[in-house]
Amino acid sequence: MIKVVFVGTGGGAPSRRGLPAFLVKRDDFSALLDCGEGTQITMVNHSLNVMNVKLIAITHLHADHVLGLPSLIQTMGMYDRREKLTVMGPKGLKDFLETVFERTYFRPNFPIEFVESYEQGNVKVTPFPTCHVVPSQGYLVQEADSFNLDADRLRSEGVTDWRVMRALKEGREVRLGERTLKPEDFLIPKRGVKLAYTGDTRPCEKVVRAVSGVDLLLHDSTFEKGIDAGEYGHSTSVEAAEVALEAKVKRLALVHVSSRYPDPSELLKQARRVFPMTVLPDDLSFLSLQA
Ligand SMILES: [Zn+2]
Ligand SMILES: [Zn+2]
Repeated sequence: MIKVVFVGTGGGAPSRRGLPAFLVKRDDFSALLDCGEGTQITMVNHSLNVMNVKLIAITHLHADHVLGLPSLIQTMGMYDRREKLTVMGPKGLKDFLETVFERTYFRPNFPIEFVESYEQGNVKVTPFPTCHVVPSQGYLVQEADSFNLDADRLRSEGVTDWRVMRALKEGREVRLGERTLKPEDFLIPKRGVKLAYTGDTRPCEKVVRAVSGVDLLLHDSTFEKGIDAGEYGHSTSVEAAEVALEAKVKRLALVHVSSRYPDPSELLKQARRVFPMTVLPDDLSFLSLQA
């Protein structure tokens, strides 16, 4: 199961909605997708553990997506973090961070590693290209496929020993008296959860291809229908819904909502006419995803 906390669902300028930041958690995997200004303040004020974050993945270097990052890292340093922090992002991110650190007289006391893709336990995070006005990338978060034990079959075969069950789940054959139990007879395949976050983007074919079939798509939905979102490299909620429909995703979350909409219910209504499985999450709401 993967949990997504919508830390900041606004875009551009802050409003009642904070700037983009999404916390994705599974067991001890904890990643932050984008880190707009104010992200750490929201997290600290709502008991979301900033120290546990292992990966920070930035979509692009516009201020509303990245300005919270240097200060979040400095806080980690202040609390004496020792564990490595992994960072992903477009070209220029490393240089941006190093410049801020140098100018603010900060030297991290823990390692920061810049990578192009990331894997921890059963979760993989990979970037995909998006279509914004500056270099930008979205992220696909994938849980590995796994197996569940077939409880009915175990019961009918009289298998109750947990050590036998564990061995079968780990894919090992087990001798039980005269019988040999084969794992393939007792395992039911379980598909891993997939989610994608676009960051800022126009609706585009590259995104449709990359997010095809995901369980949850977080898509740029800056404006309502009728606004020329393309001029700014963004999408309307209807365009986000059209991407969701074309990519055959299971569920769509509209994010990066412009501060010009104190009540964004119209954006949601318009999107749902195209793609009914759409939500417009508030800050600090969350979704638990199970395939
Ligand atoms: Zn933005
Ligand atoms: Zn942008």
